[in-house]
Amino acid sequence: MTFTVFYKFFIVHLLSALAITSAASTAPTFEIGTWGNFCQGAISHTFDDYGMSGTGNAAGANGAGEAAFDAKGFHSTIFVVTGSASAATWTNCKYAFAKGHEIASHSVTHSGTMPTSELAPSQNAVRQNVPGEKCVTIAYPNCNTPGDAQVLQYYIAGRNCAASPVTEKSPGNFAQINSKMFGAGSCGCPNTATDFNNYADQAALSNGWAVVCSQALAAITIHGR
Ligand SMILES: [Zn+2]
Repeated sequence: MTFTVFYKFFIVHLLSALAITSAASTAPTFEIGTWGNFCQGAISHTFDDYGMSGTGNAAGANGAGEAAFDAKGFHSTIFVVTGSASAATWTNCKYAFAKGHEIASHSVTHSGTMPTSELAPSQNAVRQNVPGEKCVTIAYPNCNTPGDAQVLQYYIAGRNCAASPVTEKSPGNFAQINSKMFGAGSCGCPNTATDFNNYADQAALSNGWAVVCSQALAAITIHGR
């Protein structure tokens, strides 16, 4: 999740011709955008399990997934299982980070419920292996949080699964950012252009924030949303 864009409020000063000629009698009108560039909603694309088998396309010079994002100038978040990361994993993460992608934590061991003891070590591993990356967000393996208060001691936000997958424009709990799972393979997840567009439309209709959680990335196409 790349947060900086969401906190940029764009203010447009809309002066009518009448206001210009009669400023003393007409108050200027301002509009504050909910999202950057006055978009109706926001989307974050996130990829899990990086460093584990079958996830290589999400990052790196030879990653078709990252290449698709780079071609459009879009950024993603790549959540790394740091205990599974090889030297090649970190090389690819550094490459992705240099292109503007976020490298974040997906625990050390990807155990059933992430223990609190992995919060700091996974963050430190990212920081040490991807110089400059602060690693301020986390995704919980298997949708099990180690605890909101514990997470927020180390991270500004955590991504989780959700039955209602669009997060409101001002999240009430940054340790529980909703996401919707997509991807090929055994998860049976939605994975077509229509599926992605429908999720984007959901976010737009509610002025909310859609977070795509992609599993089993084989090859992707960016559909212009
Ligand atoms: Zn995972």
